[in-house]
Amino acid sequence: MENHVTEIYGSNVFNFATMRARLPKVTYKSLKKTIDEGLALDESVAEVVASAMKDWALEKGATHFTHWFQPMTGITAEKHDSFIAPTEDGKVIMEFTGKDLVKGEPDASSFPSGGLRATFEARGYTAWDCTSPAFVKGSTLYIPTAFWSYTGEVLDKKTPLLRSMEALNKQALRILKLFGNPATRVTTTVGPEQEYFLVDRELWSKRKDLIFTGRTLFGAKPPKGQELEDHYFGNIKERVSDYMKDLDTELWKLGIAAKTKHNEVAPAQHELAPIFSTSNIATDHNQLTMEIMQKVAIKHNLTCLLHEKPFAGVNGSGKHNNWAMSTNEGQNLLEPGSTPHENTQFLIFLCAVIKAVDDYQDLLRLSVASAGNDHRLGANEAPPAIVSVFLGDQLTDILLQMENGKAKEKNYSSIFETGVACLPNLPKDATDRNRTSPFAFTGNKFEFRMVGSSASISGCNFVLNTIVAEILQQYADRLEAASDLPAEIAALISDTVKNHKRIIFNGNNYSEEWVEEAERRGLSNLKSTVECIPTFISDKNVAVFVKHNVLSKSEIESRYEILLENYIKTINIEALTMLSMAKTEILPAAFKYSKELSDTINSVKTTGMPVEVSAQSTVLKELSSVLSSFTSNIASLKKALNKASDDSANILSQAEAYSKSVISAMEGLRTDADKLEAIIPKDIYPFPTYAELLFNI
Ligand code: ADP
Ligand code: MG
Repeated sequence: MENHVTEIYGSNVFNFATMRARLPKVTYKSLKKTIDEGLALDESVAEVVASAMKDWALEKGATHFTHWFQPMTGITAEKHDSFIAPTEDGKVIMEFTGKDLVKGEPDASSFPSGGLRATFEARGYTAWDCTSPAFVKGSTLYIPTAFWSYTGEVLDKKTPLLRSMEALNKQALRILKLFGNPATRVTTTVGPEQEYFLVDRELWSKRKDLIFTGRTLFGAKPPKGQELEDHYFGNIKERVSDYMKDLDTELWKLGIAAKTKHNEVAPAQHELAPIFSTSNIATDHNQLTMEIMQKVAIKHNLTCLLHEKPFAGVNGSGKHNNWAMSTNEGQNLLEPGSTPHENTQFLIFLCAVIKAVDDYQDLLRLSVASAGNDHRLGANEAPPAIVSVFLGDQLTDILLQMENGKAKEKNYSSIFETGVACLPNLPKDATDRNRTSPFAFTGNKFEFRMVGSSASISGCNFVLNTIVAEILQQYADRLEAASDLPAEIAALISDTVKNHKRIIFNGNNYSEEWVEEAERRGLSNLKSTVECIPTFISDKNVAVFVKHNVLSKSEIESRYEILLENYIKTINIEALTMLSMAKTEILPAAFKYSKELSDTINSVKTTGMPVEVSAQSTVLKELSSVLSSFTSNIASLKKALNKASDDSANILSQAEAYSKSVISAMEGLRTDADKLEAIIPKDIYPFPTYAELLFNI
């Protein structure tokens, strides 16, 4: 088995091992240098690589190739071209040129562009991103690419991420140079932990809400939820374990280093974590992971739900974005080492992150905002909508000492004695973990925990990279000008702590007291997506993206529009789905049961016997009363929806109308439907309940 895994791992990837084996030495060296050092690609190299890539892909059974890209839909896009080229004798040869590899021209007119281009300007371009390896999936060679419009504006999620990595590299190297560090490149690294739900596909197929919106819009609380805490890390049931095994195999073939799998807190919820890689590859791999999770589920007659809140009343799903920076020599810049108080290089990078998070709380919050995530953030199961940093006692103590001078060495670690002879005594970590913090330092990386489970991690990472690059630039400007570098470093750390310690919070982020405390500290608390979106176009935030060449002003404006449009469309689909289920499924079931009850009462009465019908009458009365409220709530939702969809003159105010009146009408309708579910017999209720969906596997 061990051998089997090592054999299949990366077998469908045109990785360095394959390149080394198949490319002429000079070509391999040149391409590797391009990738490692972020240089421009030599055209002659592309021709040779294309030919080797094609031969390799044909051996893997590929007949087509595609430029695989990440438009603003949040999912990936692909258009497959076959390798065939006709010959004069009526046959074909398989052809793939350097130009085919490097550049594509897909029609861009039907992708979200936020008004960046008119529909008649249909042309778009894709360009090979050689830093993320090509792979074969099915019978197609996939080439990771960036995507932009005819007019040169970026229309995808990869380009800003790559640009932000460049920006961070540039500024981080300036800092490292001051410390005499010989590194020539700094890369951001990411390991995204992915949560998901699995439900039986037959049951799933009976629920329009799951099919159209990815979440349940109705559903009464089942008798059992997650209160016994018996699912988290619980033993994995056979059907799920078979699924996970298949999933791992498919991911490994694609060189995705799936490492950890376990049951999560909510029933039917699970998690997969890969070993980290560069932000760019991690983003591509996370997109693939989400896609393959869904595909493999179908084979097992399951459906994988990636929505942030598929079920009310139990935990939703997120993605923990573990993030760090490392040099080409393999040094993790967020590694504190054994004497962090003396490790000034580490402290500078740590301070830069703290200041970046404080200065750009709103952008980080925006980077995780979506209609789905609105159900999670602040719902006492996920970090609140308030951004803060967890550092732990040791680092907090060091920084607070440095605010007023030098930090002294202190022993924070100790030994945990098990008291059992055959168990080893273990060194205790200097700090406990904090599960409630949205942005936690976890040993040698930061874990950004607000990200939604269905989101592309490009957004949070390009924001994170850009804002840290900005602070590193401010630091480098100051330190490069200093005559006494050590003194200036000490002053810089002290200033940072003084001005930004308000963002550090090591307590319970789920508590009500923290919300009040955060307000006293002046931290921002942007509760919903629609409240966040306008921060994108504030002067301060536009400036930071433009300055670091990550997004232009018009690209930001287009993304602002796309975010609002996407929000409006999502809520609109949810409301329409609710209305359809309410009218064509729940109402008829309720009428049917009400008729059954009336018939029973009548037939009992016609027997002429002195028998009580009060039980039936009580149920009928309750049913009728909920029904009348339910029908009036259908009307209210319709009204709110019509009003919001007519309000299209200003897209922001339209989104506000959806977020306020449409959502509140949806909640009203759901409350009544869930009451009906509790009254109407199981065999009449039109779709599977929470109890069935969550406990069936
Ligand atoms: P946890 O205890 O939170 O599960 P792990 O050590 O298992 O922490 O790591 C969680 C994720 O963080 C994994 O995907 C792991 O690869 C990733 N990770 C570890 N080190 C780094 C790093 N330097 N940069 C980015 N991600 C990292
Ligand atoms: Mg974690």
